[in-house]
Amino acid sequence: MTDQKIPVGSRQFLPRSAFEELFAALHKEGYSIVGPKVTDGAVRMQPIGSVAEMPQGIRDNQDGGFYRLEEGEPELWFEYVVGPNGPKEFFFPAQLPLFEFHVQGGRFDLDAGPPQVPKLAFLGVRPCELAAIDVQDRVFGRDDPGTFRCESEPWYLQIRQEALLIAVNCTRPGGTCFCASWGTGPEAAGGYDLALTELKDGFVVAVGSKRGAALAENLSLRAPSGAELELATLKMELAREHMGRQLETPDLKQLLNESIEFPEWDDVARRCLSCGNCTMVCPTCFCCTVSDGSDLSGQEITRTRFWESCFSHQFTYTIAGPERNTIRGRYRHWLRHKLCTWWDQFECSGCVGCGRCITWCPVGIDLTEEAQRLREGSTKHKKRLGVSHGE
Ligand code: SF4
Ligand code: SF4
Repeated sequence: MTDQKIPVGSRQFLPRSAFEELFAALHKEGYSIVGPKVTDGAVRMQPIGSVAEMPQGIRDNQDGGFYRLEEGEPELWFEYVVGPNGPKEFFFPAQLPLFEFHVQGGRFDLDAGPPQVPKLAFLGVRPCELAAIDVQDRVFGRDDPGTFRCESEPWYLQIRQEALLIAVNCTRPGGTCFCASWGTGPEAAGGYDLALTELKDGFVVAVGSKRGAALAENLSLRAPSGAELELATLKMELAREHMGRQLETPDLKQLLNESIEFPEWDDVARRCLSCGNCTMVCPTCFCCTVSDGSDLSGQEITRTRFWESCFSHQFTYTIAGPERNTIRGRYRHWLRHKLCTWWDQFECSGCVGCGRCITWCPVGIDLTEEAQRLREGSTKHKKRLGVSHGE
């Protein structure tokens, strides 16, 4: 590169042969890299050290209750889309030790607090994931206290502050993706440091922040040709037209409010196992619980935060007892939260269209189909009814 600074908002081209430079530049800045890696038959976001650990020439095949990896174009590295996990697993871990203390002569002595916040660079974050991170930023109170209703979460705020996000636009949407319905993909609109669009010879790189621009200074970038930019735009247009699923999003809130007593909920309740998989893979779900444990002597005490699920009956307990005693009530609560009441809490949707809850549901329940059933039902069921308390 010349001495000229790379402007934020510019587009560059990174030849595939120079991709490894990203790893070197990130390591030089002290980042641990989290990127795509095949683990247990799925592409997961994992700590990785080099390009060689990334999947190459692999694509995913996803449908309701179905995920398989298969051979893709040998020259491409990002033909798959989201797997079962994402950055949420690092920003909001499934299990986080909050503190440890021991009893010492009638006193409680603190031994440890939460683990030190790591400095992470995420490589291969998909546009729907960026949207989901934005949702969780609201939940955990990052940046703008006006947009959240919960207490801010210091560990989350710190790890987010440190993190660098390198997005990859989706040129081949998965079978359960519907980000285009929400406008959260397939092209990243913001919230990234760098965003890559993969072509055969390399990547069109959009520079999204000063940190991204500083990182880009270390790479063998060149100006993209007109043909490369045109091809990248074309790939995004094609991806938009080939979403696996669609969701009619306008008036969803009204639909979910009007359909509380519809018989369609009975039908989905007969299929739903209340296993909670959909909440475990969802990049916006944030429910958790806190558990205390001790050793057998009762002297060493730990407090740990775990993910919880609104599909767990125990999670519905309040001071007045369990609130949602049926699978019908729990599924309805989940879907209404995602598509309706999330707006009241956080002024945004609780769904970003990643499709994970469809792929990883063991019985293939598909929220886009369930919403459509309610929509069709609403023309039949004219009467507006109230909520049954305690269901
Ligand atoms: S919708 Fe599917 S994944 Fe979610 S709780 Fe029901 S069976 Fe499990
Ligand atoms: S509700 Fe389903 S499709 Fe929407 S963000 Fe969560 S996992 Fe993705």
